[in-house]
Amino acid sequence: MKELSEVLRDWEPVIGLEIHTELTTLQTKMFCGCRLSHDDEPNTNVCPVCLGMPGALPVPNKAAIQSIVLAGLATNCDIMRHSMFYRKNYFYPDMAKNFQTTQGPIAFCMNGWLDLEVSGPGSRERADDVTRDEDGGYVARVGIERIHMEEDAAKMVHVGGVDGRIDGAEYSLIDYNRAGTPLIELVTKPDLRSPEEARLFMEKLRQIFLTLGISDCSMENGSMRCDGNVSLRRRGTERLGTKTELKNLNSFKSLHDGLEYEIRRQAEVLEEGGVVYQETRHWETSTRRTLVMRTKETADDYRFFPEPDLAPFDLPDAFVEEVRGRLPELPDARRDRYVATFGLRRADARQLAGDPAVAELFEQVMAQAKPELARTVANVIINDLTGVLNAAGQTFATASLTADQVRGLAELLASDAITSRQGREVAEAMVQTGEDPARIVDERGMRQVSDTSALAPIVDQVIAACPDQVAQYRGGNAKVIGYLIGQCMKASRGKGNPKLFNQLLAERMA
Ligand SMILES: [Zn+2]
Repeated sequence: MKELSEVLRDWEPVIGLEIHTELTTLQTKMFCGCRLSHDDEPNTNVCPVCLGMPGALPVPNKAAIQSIVLAGLATNCDIMRHSMFYRKNYFYPDMAKNFQTTQGPIAFCMNGWLDLEVSGPGSRERADDVTRDEDGGYVARVGIERIHMEEDAAKMVHVGGVDGRIDGAEYSLIDYNRAGTPLIELVTKPDLRSPEEARLFMEKLRQIFLTLGISDCSMENGSMRCDGNVSLRRRGTERLGTKTELKNLNSFKSLHDGLEYEIRRQAEVLEEGGVVYQETRHWETSTRRTLVMRTKETADDYRFFPEPDLAPFDLPDAFVEEVRGRLPELPDARRDRYVATFGLRRADARQLAGDPAVAELFEQVMAQAKPELARTVANVIINDLTGVLNAAGQTFATASLTADQVRGLAELLASDAITSRQGREVAEAMVQTGEDPARIVDERGMRQVSDTSALAPIVDQVIAACPDQVAQYRGGNAKVIGYLIGQCMKASRGKGNPKLFNQLLAERMA
């Protein structure tokens, strides 16, 4: 198969996403009062409604509808005042009712959009049909067709097969605790043009939903899941090609790599004169390829019809306005505020603003710190702590870092008391032991020496030991000072202040 970059010269990918998000922060299920929990003993949070017993009647969860309206407002959707639930009929043990209650042609939220800022190497995945900034980045507006409300099915575990699939499994287990979990499905317009844009859309949506507090958005645990549609057309043509649907794109990496593989596969099929079939394919992470699951069903197969047990919805203005009043500051607005208030670089501000736990920590630190410390605090969080926490299997939400610790570390770095390399070591110790950074520095004897009288003898010693380099420097090779600073650092066992060494060396060799 050709490389993606080669394929993209002749073909334009047309990609749409369907993203399911469980509203995990709610207390109860969508149409009954059963408790929502992923961790309880299987089949303990069940009742006649979510087990589909004859005669059991659903009652909609108001908090779930508030959550979906919140999601719609945050993604620039129109909130539809009149909508209703439908039955999507199918026969499979993961839905005891034999139908899923979902929404029909009109969903609670319609016609939204999000702007994606695409930069870095991933921005090269899109052909040059966009206006780029000086760094090659661009902004792509992605339309949102709708966000509708539905309920999740039971969780099935297939035992004995490959990759947890039903093919070749010996038996299957069903946990109805998940049946009836409030689920929102967001469908984008086919506006995405590269795997990177798809990945960024998912990332941005996850940041928004986390900020809204409507879900834990865990792709690992399946509370946020993504399917993709992709088709190809010759560059310069308008007509859409036949699309395939990709399942199991359940990490940012799978989403990107699965789409990339499928684009390359379709290009090969089309270039060899073959036909792309409308079918559902499974991204197999272990072999890094997509496999046919089934040929595509149509809406008729599901015999959609209005749910007779639930009255149509009329959302009053007061309800929508009450929800609007609860909208928190969204990641884009927060990013702009960080740039304006703290003078952060845009990319740093975006990273801090994207995760509510990180943003909260940053703001707690800045509430006590001088404004000029902001860039150092951002660096500590992004470059030191993020990596250290990842390596320790923690996140900013689970770690017990305090604002005082982070501010302390930033102050040590900003005052040149420690080097940036030592800063990383202190960050590690802070996460492991929970100790105060100043104490860690003292205990480990790490304090950087910034005392001229202590450093001058080292400088003299290095100048005496390196006559060749000194001659080169005096002969006009200014770069060689880097080598001499390195020698001084070595002689001071990493504790000398490199800026001061630089200054002293330059003075002595002038
Ligand atoms: Zn129930």
